[in-house]
Amino acid sequence: MSDRRALAERTARAIAALEARGTHAFVDWSEQELERQVPDAKVPGGSAGPDTGTPKRAQGPGAKTPSWTEGAGAGAALDGETVAIKDNICDLTFHTTCSSRILEGWRSPFEATAVRRLREAGGLVAGKTNCDEFAMGSSTEFSCYGPTLNPLDPARVPGGSSGGSAAAVAAGAVSMALGSETGGSVRQPAAFCGVVGIKPTYGRISRYGLVAFGSSLDQIGTFGSDVAGAARLLSVISGRDPLDATSLDRDPVPPPRPTPASLAGTVIGVPREYYGEGLHPGVAAAVRRATERLRDLGAELRDVSLPHTRYAVPTYYVIAPAEASSNLARYDGVRYGHRVAGDEADVRSLYRATRGSGFGPEVRRRILLGTYVLSAGFYDAYYAKAHRARERIRADFAAVFGAGVHALFTPTTPTPAFKLGENLADPVAMYLQDIYVCTANLAGVPALSLPIGRDQGLPIGGQFIGPMEGEAAIVRIAQALERVAGGTEEVR
Ligand code: GLN
Repeated sequence: MSDRRALAERTARAIAALEARGTHAFVDWSEQELERQVPDAKVPGGSAGPDTGTPKRAQGPGAKTPSWTEGAGAGAALDGETVAIKDNICDLTFHTTCSSRILEGWRSPFEATAVRRLREAGGLVAGKTNCDEFAMGSSTEFSCYGPTLNPLDPARVPGGSSGGSAAAVAAGAVSMALGSETGGSVRQPAAFCGVVGIKPTYGRISRYGLVAFGSSLDQIGTFGSDVAGAARLLSVISGRDPLDATSLDRDPVPPPRPTPASLAGTVIGVPREYYGEGLHPGVAAAVRRATERLRDLGAELRDVSLPHTRYAVPTYYVIAPAEASSNLARYDGVRYGHRVAGDEADVRSLYRATRGSGFGPEVRRRILLGTYVLSAGFYDAYYAKAHRARERIRADFAAVFGAGVHALFTPTTPTPAFKLGENLADPVAMYLQDIYVCTANLAGVPALSLPIGRDQGLPIGGQFIGPMEGEAAIVRIAQALERVAGGTEEVR
């Protein structure tokens, strides 16, 4: 049996076991689709595999049936890796529904650049993972399929919105996963599940095939069980893409190097605004311990200030819903998935009935909020003002990095994973989860979360934020900390 076939079978068994436990990390996967990616020596052409009865799809521009082995010779960068894909990233094999009723049954006619690249590098695509509807949320409870459970404690959320991807990696069902970040949706679930999550610089990874939420903030991000894994996936999928006008005209992020033994000469800023009231004592103990270990590694730790941090959550929750209200206007019952005819035979009635029944409560809240802040009379008071605040937040980062700081170190989240249902009735409490993560999205800078300890068994994440295009630097620093952090050890 080939290694790849053994890997496909092992992955299918691991996903089946995870789902049998009720974790509900996956929303679309199958053993047949995993096996279809194994080149079959008996089939001429090499990669046809068994007919799985997958429905034929419209062929969009550039679309073609994936040939799984294309470009993936022995020694390809992701050989032997299995990758789960968040349900808001388009692929040609599974459904893409953004965990929303409004996209029920939809299959993409085109493939995201990130998915194509990881496939061509030899990665085995394991399936699609559960998320908050249209990536709006911090707990994966706002999914039309029901919540994902945290594999380390099934009474708790895995974080969100990329909770299914984080849970799949944490449980060991896959080695890597793609998520998406608009305001922390890779780093926060990575912290809650005890895995590594990276959000790159805005424009580093093509957004082609990532369903739009807040286009000026959205980025695909990567999960791995360690820093090198998440960084390897980032390296494979990053780099310029003519299919995304906002993609940076830059080469891919280089693959991770061996872990450095020392951080001598590295200046790490500790922004005081990220260590304020409301920080859970377990999280505080973990970041304190990690800070000492950074110092032991030879890094210079410097107190710094990002004075506009307190405006980040309100700024984010104006800009992201504003952009979402515009992006989600396309789901109208005419072009995609779900359609409900209204009471009257006119198009407005069709829109109302389709959108009213297709979108869940959080998405409706965002659309209402977004159209409100964009409406004539309120635009200057909210949207324009949020843009000014965003500029200040961006300038705060530029100032500290301009003053010789190589990276910032902060907690990823104010608390460890919370209980299912705990924040559901209080949207503002849910939004405050993003307090330490949404700043990087607003500023466009790269950031990474890695496990730095556990409190009563619950993982705690530490975050490195880097300057624009500073992925390689934060990966290097995180690798050094990872080796000594005691990511699975209790902190107090
Ligand atoms: N939790 C944030 C929100 O609900 C971030 C979501 C994301 O990054 N996709 O908008």
